[in-house]
Amino acid sequence: MDPMPKIVGAVKTRTFKKGVHPTDYKAFTNAEKIEYPPLPDNVFIPLQQHIGEPGRPLVSPGDEVKTGQCVGRSDKYVSSPVHASVTGKVKAITTLPHPVGARAQMVHIQRTGEDEWDLLPVPEDWRTEPLENLRELVQEAGIVGLGGAAFPTHVKLSPPADKAIDAFILNGCECEPYLTADHRAMVELAEKILTGMGILMRVLGVEKGYIGIETNKPDAIEAMRACCTRIGLDVPVIPLQTKYPQGAEKMLIQAVLDRKVPAGGLPMDVGVIVNNVGTALAVTEAVTEGKSLVQRIVTVTGNGINTPKNVMARIGSPFSHLVDCCDGLKEETSQVFMGGPMMGIAQFDLAVPVIKATSGIICTTDSISEKGKTLPCIRCGSCISACSMNLLPTRLARLTEMKQLEAAGELGIDHCIECGSCAFVCPSQIPLVQWIRVGKYRLSQLN
Ligand code: SF4
Ligand code: SF4
Repeated sequence: MDPMPKIVGAVKTRTFKKGVHPTDYKAFTNAEKIEYPPLPDNVFIPLQQHIGEPGRPLVSPGDEVKTGQCVGRSDKYVSSPVHASVTGKVKAITTLPHPVGARAQMVHIQRTGEDEWDLLPVPEDWRTEPLENLRELVQEAGIVGLGGAAFPTHVKLSPPADKAIDAFILNGCECEPYLTADHRAMVELAEKILTGMGILMRVLGVEKGYIGIETNKPDAIEAMRACCTRIGLDVPVIPLQTKYPQGAEKMLIQAVLDRKVPAGGLPMDVGVIVNNVGTALAVTEAVTEGKSLVQRIVTVTGNGINTPKNVMARIGSPFSHLVDCCDGLKEETSQVFMGGPMMGIAQFDLAVPVIKATSGIICTTDSISEKGKTLPCIRCGSCISACSMNLLPTRLARLTEMKQLEAAGELGIDHCIECGSCAFVCPSQIPLVQWIRVGKYRLSQLN
Protein backbone atom coordinates (compact mmCIF):
# COMPACT_ATOMS: atom_id res chain seq x y z
CA MET A 1 0.00 0.00 0.00
CA ASP A 2 1.52 3.32 -1.04
CA PRO A 3 0.79 6.05 1.50
CA MET A 4 1.78 8.80 -0.91
CA PRO A 5 -0.70 9.70 -3.62
CA LYS A 6 0.29 9.12 -7.23
CA ILE A 7 0.79 12.32 -9.19
CA VAL A 8 -1.60 12.17 -12.12
CA GLY A 9 0.04 14.69 -14.41
CA ALA A 10 0.58 18.42 -14.06
CA VAL A 11 -2.66 19.54 -15.65
CA LYS A 12 -5.12 16.70 -15.16
CA THR A 13 -6.79 16.74 -11.78
CA ARG A 14 -7.34 13.49 -9.93
CA THR A 15 -10.60 11.63 -9.94
CA PHE A 16 -12.26 8.21 -9.93
CA LYS A 17 -13.58 6.08 -12.79
CA LYS A 18 -17.06 6.71 -14.28
CA GLY A 19 -19.50 9.15 -12.60
CA VAL A 20 -21.59 11.96 -14.07
CA HIS A 21 -21.51 15.73 -14.61
CA PRO A 22 -24.78 17.29 -13.46
CA THR A 23 -25.20 21.08 -13.72
CA ASP A 24 -23.98 22.30 -10.34
CA TYR A 25 -26.33 25.27 -9.69
CA LYS A 26 -23.93 26.43 -6.99
CA ALA A 27 -23.85 30.03 -8.20
CA PHE A 28 -27.05 30.70 -6.26
CA THR A 29 -25.08 30.69 -2.98
CA ASN A 30 -21.36 30.01 -3.44
CA ALA A 31 -20.50 33.65 -2.81
CA GLU A 32 -23.03 34.14 0.00
CA LYS A 33 -21.44 34.50 3.43
CA ILE A 34 -22.78 32.33 6.24
CA GLU A 35 -25.61 34.21 7.97
CA TYR A 36 -26.79 33.76 11.54
CA PRO A 37 -30.60 34.02 11.41
CA PRO A 38 -32.76 34.90 14.45
CA LEU A 39 -33.23 32.00 16.87
CA PRO A 40 -36.43 30.02 16.23
CA ASP A 41 -39.24 30.33 18.82
CA ASN A 42 -39.78 26.57 18.79
CA VAL A 43 -37.48 23.66 18.01
CA PHE A 44 -38.32 19.99 17.51
CA ILE A 45 -35.38 17.71 18.32
CA PRO A 46 -35.80 14.23 16.78
CA LEU A 47 -34.44 11.44 18.98
CA GLN A 48 -33.22 9.68 15.82
CA GLN A 49 -30.90 11.80 13.70
CA HIS A 50 -28.12 9.30 13.07
CA ILE A 51 -27.31 5.79 11.93
CA GLY A 52 -27.86 3.42 14.85
CA GLU A 53 -30.15 3.16 17.83
CA PRO A 54 -32.60 6.04 18.45
CA GLY A 55 -32.35 7.82 21.80
CA ARG A 56 -34.97 7.87 24.54
CA PRO A 57 -36.06 11.20 26.03
CA LEU A 58 -34.24 12.39 29.16
CA VAL A 59 -36.60 15.32 29.77
CA SER A 60 -40.33 15.73 30.42
CA PRO A 61 -42.89 18.41 29.56
CA GLY A 62 -42.39 21.44 31.80
CA ASP A 63 -38.63 20.91 32.27
CA GLU A 64 -36.41 23.92 31.67
CA VAL A 65 -33.44 23.25 29.41
CA LYS A 66 -30.31 25.15 28.42
CA THR A 67 -28.68 25.29 24.99
CA GLY A 68 -26.41 22.26 24.66
CA GLN A 69 -28.14 20.19 27.36
CA CYS A 70 -28.58 16.53 26.46
CA VAL A 71 -32.29 15.76 25.99
CA GLY A 72 -32.13 12.26 24.54
CA ARG A 73 -29.73 9.33 24.32
CA SER A 74 -29.42 5.56 24.03
CA ASP A 75 -27.15 3.19 25.96
CA LYS A 76 -26.13 1.50 22.72
CA TYR A 77 -22.65 2.26 21.37
CA VAL A 78 -23.77 2.87 17.78
CA SER A 79 -26.00 5.83 18.55
CA SER A 80 -25.57 9.51 19.32
CA PRO A 81 -27.07 11.78 22.00
CA VAL A 82 -29.20 14.77 20.97
CA HIS A 83 -29.20 18.17 22.64
CA ALA A 84 -31.42 21.19 23.20
CA SER A 85 -30.56 23.77 20.55
CA VAL A 86 -32.16 26.71 22.36
CA THR A 87 -32.73 27.70 25.99
CA GLY A 88 -36.36 27.18 26.91
CA LYS A 89 -39.06 24.92 28.28
CA VAL A 90 -39.99 21.43 27.10
CA LYS A 91 -43.53 21.65 25.77
CA ALA A 92 -44.02 18.03 24.76
CA ILE A 93 -42.46 14.74 23.76
CA THR A 94 -44.38 14.15 20.61
CA THR A 95 -44.49 12.26 17.31
CA LEU A 96 -44.25 14.42 14.20
CA PRO A 97 -43.24 14.15 10.51
CA HIS A 98 -39.48 13.57 10.14
CA PRO A 99 -37.56 14.88 7.10
CA VAL A 100 -36.26 11.43 6.17
CA GLY A 101 -39.82 10.08 6.00
CA ALA A 102 -42.60 8.81 8.25
CA ARG A 103 -43.12 10.20 11.76
CA ALA A 104 -40.70 10.08 14.67
CA GLN A 105 -40.47 10.97 18.34
CA MET A 106 -39.22 14.50 19.01
CA VAL A 107 -38.64 16.81 21.97
CA HIS A 108 -40.54 20.06 21.42
CA ILE A 109 -38.82 23.00 23.15
CA GLN A 110 -40.28 26.48 23.30
CA ARG A 111 -37.56 29.11 23.50
CA THR A 112 -37.78 31.44 26.49
CA GLY A 113 -34.86 33.75 25.78
CA GLU A 114 -31.30 34.05 24.48
CA ASP A 115 -28.81 31.20 24.85
CA GLU A 116 -27.70 30.08 28.27
CA TRP A 117 -25.18 27.35 27.49
CA ASP A 118 -24.78 24.00 29.16
CA LEU A 119 -21.17 23.41 28.13
CA LEU A 120 -19.15 20.21 28.18
CA PRO A 121 -15.92 20.25 30.23
CA VAL A 122 -13.07 20.92 27.79
CA PRO A 123 -9.40 19.93 28.09
CA GLU A 124 -6.78 22.58 28.73
CA ASP A 125 -4.87 21.41 25.68
CA TRP A 126 -6.21 18.78 23.24
CA ARG A 127 -2.64 18.10 22.09
CA THR A 128 -1.80 16.46 25.43
CA GLU A 129 -5.24 15.22 26.55
CA PRO A 130 -5.60 11.41 26.84
CA LEU A 131 -7.11 10.11 23.59
CA GLU A 132 -9.96 8.31 25.34
CA ASN A 133 -11.13 11.63 26.84
CA LEU A 134 -11.23 13.23 23.39
CA ARG A 135 -13.20 10.29 21.96
CA GLU A 136 -15.65 10.54 24.83
CA LEU A 137 -16.06 14.28 24.31
CA VAL A 138 -16.87 13.74 20.62
CA GLN A 139 -19.44 11.12 21.65
CA GLU A 140 -21.01 13.28 24.39
CA ALA A 141 -21.26 16.21 21.97
CA GLY A 142 -23.44 14.11 19.67
CA ILE A 143 -21.16 14.48 16.67
CA VAL A 144 -22.07 12.49 13.57
CA GLY A 145 -20.89 12.69 9.96
CA LEU A 146 -22.30 15.97 8.66
CA GLY A 147 -21.74 15.15 5.00
CA GLY A 148 -25.12 13.44 4.97
CA ALA A 149 -24.44 9.94 6.31
CA ALA A 150 -24.89 10.92 9.99
CA PHE A 151 -22.76 7.97 11.16
CA PRO A 152 -21.65 8.49 14.79
CA THR A 153 -18.13 9.96 14.70
CA HIS A 154 -16.96 8.34 17.95
CA VAL A 155 -17.47 4.92 16.34
CA LYS A 156 -15.37 5.95 13.33
CA LEU A 157 -12.69 7.08 15.76
CA SER A 158 -12.44 3.59 17.28
CA PRO A 159 -11.42 1.27 14.42
CA PRO A 160 -10.88 -2.38 15.38
CA ALA A 161 -7.33 -3.25 16.48
CA ASP A 162 -6.71 -5.33 13.33
CA LYS A 163 -7.30 -2.31 11.05
CA ALA A 164 -4.09 -0.30 10.75
CA ILE A 165 -5.09 3.24 9.82
CA ASP A 166 -2.31 5.23 8.15
CA ALA A 167 -4.17 8.02 6.34
CA PHE A 168 -6.87 10.56 7.09
CA ILE A 169 -8.78 12.39 4.34
CA LEU A 170 -10.72 15.56 5.01
CA ASN A 171 -13.61 15.59 2.57
CA GLY A 172 -14.21 19.05 1.11
CA CYS A 173 -15.76 17.85 -2.16
CA GLU A 174 -19.42 18.74 -1.61
CA CYS A 175 -20.18 17.22 -5.00
CA GLU A 176 -23.99 17.40 -4.81
CA PRO A 177 -25.40 20.19 -7.00
CA TYR A 178 -26.67 23.33 -5.22
CA LEU A 179 -24.95 22.71 -1.86
CA THR A 180 -22.37 25.29 -0.74
CA ALA A 181 -22.36 24.92 3.06
CA ASP A 182 -18.98 23.14 3.17
CA HIS A 183 -17.60 25.49 0.53
CA ARG A 184 -18.42 28.57 2.62
CA ALA A 185 -17.15 26.90 5.78
CA MET A 186 -13.75 26.30 4.12
CA VAL A 187 -13.57 29.90 2.90
CA GLU A 188 -14.70 31.50 6.17
CA LEU A 189 -13.77 29.04 8.93
CA ALA A 190 -10.65 27.30 7.61
CA GLU A 191 -8.70 27.47 10.86
CA LYS A 192 -11.47 25.90 12.91
CA ILE A 193 -11.82 23.11 10.34
CA LEU A 194 -8.08 22.42 10.33
CA THR A 195 -8.01 22.37 14.13
CA GLY A 196 -10.74 19.71 13.99
CA MET A 197 -8.70 17.77 11.44
CA GLY A 198 -5.71 17.89 13.80
CA ILE A 199 -7.83 16.59 16.68
CA LEU A 200 -9.27 13.75 14.57
CA MET A 201 -5.82 12.73 13.30
CA ARG A 202 -4.40 12.74 16.84
CA VAL A 203 -7.23 10.54 18.14
CA LEU A 204 -6.66 8.10 15.27
CA GLY A 205 -2.87 8.18 15.68
CA VAL A 206 -2.50 9.06 11.99
CA GLU A 207 0.34 11.21 10.68
CA LYS A 208 -0.58 11.49 7.02
CA GLY A 209 -3.51 13.76 6.27
CA TYR A 210 -4.96 14.92 2.94
CA ILE A 211 -7.63 17.44 2.02
CA GLY A 212 -9.68 16.73 -1.13
CA ILE A 213 -11.59 19.64 -2.70
CA GLU A 214 -13.26 19.78 -6.12
CA THR A 215 -11.88 22.29 -8.62
CA ASN A 216 -15.16 24.22 -8.74
CA LYS A 217 -14.19 25.77 -5.36
CA PRO A 218 -10.90 27.56 -6.16
CA ASP A 219 -11.38 30.06 -3.31
CA ALA A 220 -11.83 27.18 -0.83
CA ILE A 221 -8.67 25.46 -2.13
CA GLU A 222 -6.81 28.76 -1.76
CA ALA A 223 -8.21 29.48 1.73
CA MET A 224 -7.37 26.01 3.05
CA ARG A 225 -3.85 26.10 1.56
CA ALA A 226 -3.21 29.57 2.99
CA CYS A 227 -4.45 28.49 6.40
CA CYS A 228 -2.28 25.34 6.39
CA THR A 229 0.74 27.54 5.68
CA ARG A 230 -0.24 30.11 8.34
CA ILE A 231 -0.68 27.58 11.14
CA GLY A 232 2.21 25.37 9.99
CA LEU A 233 0.14 22.29 9.14
CA ASP A 234 1.92 20.03 6.65
CA VAL A 235 -1.09 18.63 4.79
CA PRO A 236 -1.57 18.67 1.00
CA VAL A 237 -4.75 20.24 -0.36
CA ILE A 238 -5.54 18.15 -3.43
CA PRO A 239 -7.74 19.62 -6.19
CA LEU A 240 -10.10 16.94 -7.52
CA GLN A 241 -12.00 16.90 -10.77
CA THR A 242 -15.53 18.28 -10.42
CA LYS A 243 -17.51 15.11 -10.99
CA TYR A 244 -20.34 13.38 -9.16
CA PRO A 245 -20.10 11.46 -6.76
CA GLN A 246 -16.52 12.64 -6.04
CA GLY A 247 -17.39 13.14 -2.36
CA ALA A 248 -18.49 9.53 -1.80
CA GLU A 249 -15.86 7.97 0.47
CA LYS A 250 -14.82 5.19 -1.89
CA MET A 251 -14.45 7.55 -4.85
CA LEU A 252 -12.57 10.09 -2.75
CA ILE A 253 -10.08 7.46 -1.54
CA GLN A 254 -9.54 6.25 -5.10
CA ALA A 255 -8.92 9.79 -6.32
CA VAL A 256 -6.67 10.95 -3.46
CA LEU A 257 -4.69 7.82 -2.60
CA ASP A 258 -5.27 5.49 -5.56
CA ARG A 259 -6.52 2.81 -3.14
CA LYS A 260 -9.57 0.73 -3.95
CA VAL A 261 -11.97 -0.14 -1.15
CA PRO A 262 -13.07 -3.76 -1.81
CA ALA A 263 -16.71 -4.47 -2.69
CA GLY A 264 -18.67 -4.59 0.55
CA GLY A 265 -15.68 -3.18 2.46
CA LEU A 266 -15.07 0.01 4.39
CA PRO A 267 -12.42 2.76 4.05
CA MET A 268 -10.68 1.31 7.13
CA ASP A 269 -10.06 -1.89 5.11
CA VAL A 270 -7.54 0.12 3.09
CA GLY A 271 -6.19 1.99 6.11
CA VAL A 272 -8.18 5.20 5.65
CA ILE A 273 -10.65 7.25 7.68
CA VAL A 274 -12.61 10.01 5.92
CA ASN A 275 -14.41 12.88 7.64
CA ASN A 276 -16.33 15.77 6.22
CA VAL A 277 -15.27 19.42 6.81
CA GLY A 278 -18.50 20.14 8.72
CA THR A 279 -17.73 17.27 11.08
CA ALA A 280 -14.23 18.65 11.69
CA LEU A 281 -15.77 22.03 12.53
CA ALA A 282 -18.15 20.42 15.02
CA VAL A 283 -15.25 18.54 16.62
CA THR A 284 -13.37 21.82 17.19
CA GLU A 285 -16.42 23.46 18.77
CA ALA A 286 -16.88 20.49 21.11
CA VAL A 287 -13.25 20.01 22.11
CA THR A 288 -12.18 23.66 22.41
CA GLU A 289 -15.45 25.38 23.39
CA GLY A 290 -17.49 22.59 25.01
CA LYS A 291 -20.38 23.05 22.58
CA SER A 292 -22.46 20.03 21.68
CA LEU A 293 -23.73 19.73 18.12
CA VAL A 294 -26.74 22.07 18.20
CA GLN A 295 -26.22 23.91 14.92
CA ARG A 296 -24.94 23.35 11.40
CA ILE A 297 -24.56 25.27 8.16
CA VAL A 298 -27.50 24.74 5.80
CA THR A 299 -27.71 25.95 2.19
CA VAL A 300 -31.21 27.22 1.47
CA THR A 301 -31.28 27.61 -2.28
CA GLY A 302 -32.78 27.00 -5.70
CA ASN A 303 -34.80 29.06 -8.14
CA GLY A 304 -37.85 28.61 -5.89
CA ILE A 305 -36.62 30.64 -2.90
CA ASN A 306 -36.61 34.44 -2.92
CA THR A 307 -33.16 35.03 -1.36
CA PRO A 308 -30.86 31.97 -1.44
CA LYS A 309 -28.45 31.87 1.52
CA ASN A 310 -26.07 29.78 3.60
CA VAL A 311 -27.32 29.93 7.18
CA MET A 312 -26.08 28.66 10.53
CA ALA A 313 -29.25 26.82 11.56
CA ARG A 314 -30.14 25.47 14.95
CA ILE A 315 -30.92 21.74 14.86
CA GLY A 316 -34.68 21.33 15.28
CA SER A 317 -35.59 24.58 13.52
CA PRO A 318 -38.62 24.04 11.32
CA PHE A 319 -37.71 24.29 7.62
CA SER A 320 -40.34 27.06 7.44
CA HIS A 321 -38.23 29.18 9.83
CA LEU A 322 -35.23 29.03 7.47
CA VAL A 323 -37.41 29.58 4.42
CA ASP A 324 -38.81 32.73 6.10
CA CYS A 325 -35.26 33.89 6.84
CA CYS A 326 -34.65 33.65 3.09
CA ASP A 327 -37.70 35.82 2.27
CA GLY A 328 -40.00 32.89 1.54
CA LEU A 329 -40.81 30.60 -1.36
CA LYS A 330 -41.72 31.91 -4.77
CA GLU A 331 -45.30 31.32 -5.83
CA GLU A 332 -44.31 28.93 -8.60
CA THR A 333 -42.16 26.68 -6.35
CA SER A 334 -43.15 23.09 -6.90
CA GLN A 335 -40.57 21.00 -5.00
CA VAL A 336 -38.57 21.17 -1.78
CA PHE A 337 -35.76 18.69 -1.06
CA MET A 338 -33.62 18.05 1.96
CA GLY A 339 -30.05 17.52 0.75
CA GLY A 340 -28.96 17.75 -2.85
CA PRO A 341 -31.06 16.74 -5.83
CA MET A 342 -29.07 13.53 -6.46
CA MET A 343 -29.44 11.91 -3.03
CA GLY A 344 -31.88 14.26 -1.32
CA ILE A 345 -35.34 13.52 -0.01
CA ALA A 346 -38.49 15.27 -1.28
CA GLN A 347 -40.38 17.15 1.45
CA PHE A 348 -44.10 17.67 1.67
CA ASP A 349 -44.36 19.68 4.89
CA LEU A 350 -42.21 22.68 5.82
CA ALA A 351 -42.89 22.03 9.52
CA VAL A 352 -40.24 19.25 9.51
CA PRO A 353 -37.13 20.10 11.55
CA VAL A 354 -33.53 20.59 10.50
CA ILE A 355 -31.57 17.50 11.59
CA LYS A 356 -27.83 16.88 11.83
CA ALA A 357 -27.86 15.55 8.23
CA THR A 358 -29.60 18.60 6.73
CA SER A 359 -26.93 19.99 4.44
CA GLY A 360 -29.40 21.88 2.29
CA ILE A 361 -33.00 22.83 1.64
CA ILE A 362 -33.44 22.99 -2.12
CA CYS A 363 -36.53 24.76 -3.44
CA THR A 364 -37.21 24.53 -7.15
CA THR A 365 -39.80 25.39 -9.74
CA ASP A 366 -40.76 23.14 -12.62
CA SER A 367 -38.26 24.89 -14.88
CA ILE A 368 -35.44 23.02 -13.10
CA SER A 369 -37.04 20.10 -11.33
CA GLU A 370 -39.57 18.60 -13.73
CA LYS A 371 -38.74 15.12 -15.04
CA GLY A 372 -40.50 13.52 -17.94
CA LYS A 373 -42.80 10.52 -17.89
CA THR A 374 -41.24 7.10 -17.20
CA LEU A 375 -40.72 5.17 -20.46
CA PRO A 376 -39.58 1.59 -21.15
CA CYS A 377 -35.86 0.78 -20.94
CA ILE A 378 -34.21 1.16 -24.34
CA ARG A 379 -31.11 -0.83 -23.25
CA CYS A 380 -28.80 2.06 -23.98
CA GLY A 381 -26.39 1.08 -21.18
CA SER A 382 -25.95 4.67 -19.97
CA CYS A 383 -26.75 3.69 -16.37
CA ILE A 384 -24.03 1.03 -16.46
CA SER A 385 -21.49 3.49 -17.87
CA ALA A 386 -22.33 5.99 -15.09
CA CYS A 387 -22.17 3.62 -12.12
CA SER A 388 -18.91 4.18 -10.26
CA MET A 389 -19.58 1.01 -8.21
CA ASN A 390 -19.54 -1.05 -11.44
CA LEU A 391 -23.08 -2.35 -10.91
CA LEU A 392 -25.82 -3.08 -13.43
CA PRO A 393 -28.51 -0.63 -12.29
CA THR A 394 -31.04 -1.56 -14.96
CA ARG A 395 -30.78 -5.26 -14.06
CA LEU A 396 -30.96 -4.61 -10.31
CA ALA A 397 -34.09 -2.49 -10.71
CA ARG A 398 -35.72 -5.09 -12.96
CA LEU A 399 -34.89 -7.97 -10.59
CA THR A 400 -36.41 -6.00 -7.70
CA GLU A 401 -39.52 -5.32 -9.74
CA MET A 402 -39.79 -9.07 -10.47
CA LYS A 403 -39.17 -9.85 -6.76
CA GLN A 404 -36.03 -11.84 -7.62
CA LEU A 405 -34.19 -10.47 -4.63
CA GLU A 406 -31.64 -13.22 -4.17
CA ALA A 407 -30.50 -12.75 -7.76
CA ALA A 408 -30.23 -9.01 -7.10
CA GLY A 409 -28.16 -9.82 -4.01
CA GLU A 410 -25.81 -11.97 -6.08
CA LEU A 411 -25.35 -9.03 -8.47
CA GLY A 412 -24.27 -6.84 -5.54
CA ILE A 413 -27.35 -4.71 -4.89
CA ASP A 414 -26.04 -4.09 -1.36
CA HIS A 415 -22.96 -2.38 -2.77
CA CYS A 416 -25.06 0.40 -4.30
CA ILE A 417 -24.24 3.70 -2.56
CA GLU A 418 -27.54 5.21 -3.77
CA CYS A 419 -25.70 8.07 -5.47
CA GLY A 420 -28.42 8.50 -8.10
CA SER A 421 -26.01 8.74 -11.08
CA CYS A 422 -27.83 5.94 -12.94
CA ALA A 423 -31.22 7.59 -12.64
CA PHE A 424 -29.68 10.94 -13.61
CA VAL A 425 -28.48 9.64 -17.00
CA CYS A 426 -31.44 7.39 -17.81
CA PRO A 427 -33.18 8.76 -20.92
CA SER A 428 -36.31 6.79 -20.02
CA GLN A 429 -36.58 8.50 -16.60
CA ILE A 430 -36.74 5.12 -14.86
CA PRO A 431 -36.56 5.61 -11.08
CA LEU A 432 -33.62 3.23 -10.80
CA VAL A 433 -32.43 4.30 -7.34
CA GLN A 434 -35.89 4.05 -5.84
CA TRP A 435 -36.18 0.49 -7.16
CA ILE A 436 -32.72 -0.40 -5.88
CA ARG A 437 -33.51 1.07 -2.43
CA VAL A 438 -36.65 -1.05 -2.31
CA GLY A 439 -34.64 -4.10 -3.38
CA LYS A 440 -32.00 -3.52 -0.68
CA TYR A 441 -34.66 -3.12 1.97
CA ARG A 442 -36.62 -6.23 0.89
CA LEU A 443 -33.43 -8.29 0.72
CA SER A 444 -32.47 -7.19 4.26
CA GLN A 445 -35.87 -8.41 5.46
CA LEU A 446 -35.18 -11.85 3.93
CA ASN A 447 -31.76 -12.24 5.61
S1 SF4 B 1 -26.57 1.57 -9.00
FE1 SF4 B 1 -26.29 2.64 -7.08
S2 SF4 B 1 -24.10 3.15 -7.02
FE2 SF4 B 1 -24.62 2.64 -9.15
S3 SF4 B 1 -25.11 4.62 -10.09
FE3 SF4 B 1 -27.06 3.74 -9.38
S4 SF4 B 1 -27.33 4.61 -7.36
FE4 SF4 B 1 -25.16 4.94 -7.88
S1 SF4 C 1 -30.09 4.17 -18.73
FE1 SF4 C 1 -32.29 3.71 -18.57
S2 SF4 C 1 -32.89 3.19 -20.63
FE2 SF4 C 1 -30.65 3.07 -20.59
S3 SF4 C 1 -30.20 0.90 -20.06
FE3 SF4 C 1 -30.26 2.03 -18.15
S4 SF4 C 1 -32.38 1.78 -17.44
FE4 SF4 C 1 -32.37 1.27 -19.62
